[in-house]
Amino acid sequence: MHDIRNVLELARKSGVAVAHFNVADLVLLKAVFSSAQELQVPVLVGASEGEREFMGVRQIAAVVRSLREEFDFPIFLNANHTHTLGKAIEAAKAGFDTVVFDASALSFDENARQTKKAVEALKAINPTILVEGEIGNIGTGSEIHQFAPDLSNYLTTPAEARQFVEFTGVDVLAPAVGNMHGMSQKMVEGENKKRLDIERIAQIKTAARVPLTLHGGSGTDDEDLRQAISAGISIVHINTELRVAWRRGLESGLSAQPNQVVPYKILPFPVMEVKLVACARLRLFNGVTQLPVEDECAVAPRAREEQGVS
Ligand SMILES: [Zn+2]
Repeated sequence: MHDIRNVLELARKSGVAVAHFNVADLVLLKAVFSSAQELQVPVLVGASEGEREFMGVRQIAAVVRSLREEFDFPIFLNANHTHTLGKAIEAAKAGFDTVVFDASALSFDENARQTKKAVEALKAINPTILVEGEIGNIGTGSEIHQFAPDLSNYLTTPAEARQFVEFTGVDVLAPAVGNMHGMSQKMVEGENKKRLDIERIAQIKTAARVPLTLHGGSGTDDEDLRQAISAGISIVHINTELRVAWRRGLESGLSAQPNQVVPYKILPFPVMEVKLVACARLRLFNGVTQLPVEDECAVAPRAREEQGVS
């Protein structure tokens, strides 16, 4: 029986982090699952309120559960950025393994009050569900922003982190430590990288004493991510990078076959593009350096060239 709590404990002991990838369709899910399966590392799949609305709350829960059961694989499902108690309860009842209850747009006190209420309500539905709370400001929207906002005045302090965790009883905390949702155009082009406050992460980890999640990981400097994981980050969220790859792959699939209408001949292109990103991030977060020769994650770049994807 796969258990997300055990997976997080093991990750902490091994000095690695679990990757969290948002999915909005079966292309993304297929790419994420096959990447994790080939690298043999656990993975957390996330669906925001918008993504859940598009796919169906119970439907995405059923698909992820079927992958976990059929392949006996540690793949878990998170209800990402859930802003109301009603939507959180809906996800818990559908069988989500974790819920990010996000009242971070409110004042600290109101956020704490609402999050505590959510923790109690969700645990009453499923005592093993993990609830994550969020403090500080990490921006909104996993999309391409014209400019990266300056959020340096809204970083989480270790004292706030401890107070919030003790008051609310959250299992996991998402702090603001230099991370940000979405990417600027310069980040997409690789010219700019997000930088993290590693010292602050270590202090928050000591103060909060629960697993920490890094939201908005897309476009972050690789070395900063490595150090953040060593300092106490247990879950890293990557969404925008996957969305950029999804779109690029779809465009390649369409332009390589202008008259094609068979979806399963077009959609392998975005699957492959997303896989390239997912594999690279899974390797980084899990410290995977050696790969089996037949691994598709290793041969994907070559296959991509053969398909004429530039
Ligand atoms: Zn997030």
